[in-house]
Amino acid sequence: VIEMGVPEHSAVTTCAYCGVGCSFKAEMQGDKVVRMVPYKDGKANEGHSCVKGRFAYGYATHKDRITKPMIRETITDPWREVTWAEAIDRAASEFRRIQASYGRDAIGGITSSRCTNEETYLVQKLIRAGFGNNNVDTCARVCHSPTGYGLKVTLGTSAGTQDFRSVAQADVILVIGANPTDGHPVFGSRMKKRLREGARLIVADPRRIDLVKSPHVRADYHLQLKPGANVALINAIAHVVVTEGLVDENYVRTRCDLNDFETWARFIAEVRNSPEAVEEITGVPAADVRAAARLYATGGNAAIYYGLGVTEHSQGSTMVMGMANLAMATGNIGREGVGVNPLRGQNNVQGSCDMGSFPHELPGYRHVSDDATREMFEGLWGVKLQSEPGLRIPNMLDEAVQGRFKGIYIQGEDPAQSDPDTQHVTAGLRAMECVVVQDIFLNETAKYAHVFLPGSSFLEKDGTFTNAERRISRVRKVMSPMAGYADWEVTQLLSNALGYPMSYRHPSEIMDEIAALTPTFSGVSFAKLDQVGSIQWPCNEAAPNGTPMMHVDRFVRGLGKFMITEFVPTEERTGAKFPLILTTGRILSQYNVGAQTRRTENSRWHEEDVLEIHPFDAELRGIADGDLVALESRSGDIAIKARISERMQPGVVYTTFHHAKTGANVITTDYSDWATNCPEYKVTAVQVRRTNRP
Ligand code: SF4
Repeated sequence: VIEMGVPEHSAVTTCAYCGVGCSFKAEMQGDKVVRMVPYKDGKANEGHSCVKGRFAYGYATHKDRITKPMIRETITDPWREVTWAEAIDRAASEFRRIQASYGRDAIGGITSSRCTNEETYLVQKLIRAGFGNNNVDTCARVCHSPTGYGLKVTLGTSAGTQDFRSVAQADVILVIGANPTDGHPVFGSRMKKRLREGARLIVADPRRIDLVKSPHVRADYHLQLKPGANVALINAIAHVVVTEGLVDENYVRTRCDLNDFETWARFIAEVRNSPEAVEEITGVPAADVRAAARLYATGGNAAIYYGLGVTEHSQGSTMVMGMANLAMATGNIGREGVGVNPLRGQNNVQGSCDMGSFPHELPGYRHVSDDATREMFEGLWGVKLQSEPGLRIPNMLDEAVQGRFKGIYIQGEDPAQSDPDTQHVTAGLRAMECVVVQDIFLNETAKYAHVFLPGSSFLEKDGTFTNAERRISRVRKVMSPMAGYADWEVTQLLSNALGYPMSYRHPSEIMDEIAALTPTFSGVSFAKLDQVGSIQWPCNEAAPNGTPMMHVDRFVRGLGKFMITEFVPTEERTGAKFPLILTTGRILSQYNVGAQTRRTENSRWHEEDVLEIHPFDAELRGIADGDLVALESRSGDIAIKARISERMQPGVVYTTFHHAKTGANVITTDYSDWATNCPEYKVTAVQVRRTNRP
């Protein structure tokens, strides 16, 4: 039983966990939130919520919150509490010193997918205009950057095609590399409702997720592929479509680039792409692939939903393009019940990408080399902008190890825990002369910081988040910032100290600037959001009420573009020493690295990270359920409890990544997506053995 007082007043705001973006009424007594009630008029959740969101307010006032700025000379010194003025001055003077000594490009920053659009916009503006370079990146780098790349190339825009409501019109649902009932529970429930009504289901996943077989839902086909074989599988499905005459010819002729289609169709029809030819690569019986392909192509409205099991691979971008190819070939983009839909992990990962957090793109996904776009920003920002893309996160760390990158500003992000190959990340951070971390807790990255700027939670500021369906929703301040400033105000202080003045009085003014500079946001304002509740971008003169569905009559890029999606095996190989493949995922009650969820009342449903292993592999190694095992890869090793599970296939093990103590990223590789550097978290060759070492 949670103790609650009688609420005195309330405000409608948006959940700060996953990309569903549920609306909540935060009920308050004075300045204290006592309850989060799912908001019935919230368009993303229609009055529903999951256990994470209901208890989210718990972490906002947790005793671990850091409320005083701190500095130290070296990372082995103890922290010293200082005034805001002293902390900001230290950060600014160090950044200036580094640039004077090592050059303008020796510093950069990371924006947060947990912060608001306005805050993210401000950080990238500080870096481009205040630092004078494009060394800005986002944590989307490590999750959905291949979505941005793959969907933009094929369809013309870096976002999902549908709104969540659309699933109610789907006749066939293809879930690839996602676990919606755990990772995106409120949308997962919508999907299950449609499945109970009779929609057919194909799941492509190395693990038997709940959707495959639960009391009320059964998948027609579970394509239990081997990790790393996504592209071979999607090509095999498309091969069936093309060679069995299941292409929607009218759609392709009227909507897509025919030359590209014909080139692609010839490629995909090659025997080497057939389900039989790739059976050994995918591990999926060819007959199942053929049957699933026929169902997808002929079963009516067919919708694809996917997650990090698609993107976090060395061929993440290729796979995104492969799904777009398949959807276009079967005419499944541009109406209700179809589409290619990323299920975004973090609350504002869509927004952080929209806001220009990538080193090659200004807000609105416009390349920094585009003269007209740059001139527009230069006019309003009053500076000359770099036309060359800056460094991505892994490049910043590489350059730091090489002694060429010396300082970083990290807002609301914890790369030391959440990025792959922890040893490499920490080596990069250690090599820097000034690491400035802005967060609500002393996270793992703060161990390598010289300046710590206390952050503000979603309850302490105004702004907007953009969810996985491009829905921009208001975040409303319901309590005063515990450290005195909201995150956007801190960025502004830092910018002013660096000599690039900013003087926004409220986040609504930042949104007005975003709207003035970004055609897809030109119709968005706080006043409008307060009036209509939420809006899906593009929202502009052509679509004043927003755009629930993209690519209706034509693709954003004009004609849909088919891309050749050659399967290239990952360089991560199993062998005698590391014979198993490790893949990773989420559980319902925890969010990402658990920094927030572990500090809320929902820890009563807390589960520790465990290693799921098939009975065959466990018996071979003398491992019993609950045994402590050493999980070892070429990068390192960790200790973890084993859970024997028939959800797994032989040869594949699985764990979640919610706990710093377990440290799953100690053992992940440094391979990454060829186009975007998104890390290949989902394939690591490992060995597992019993151990007594805690
Ligand atoms: Fe909704 Fe996701 Fe928050 Fe759960 S975690 S309440 S599904 S936004």
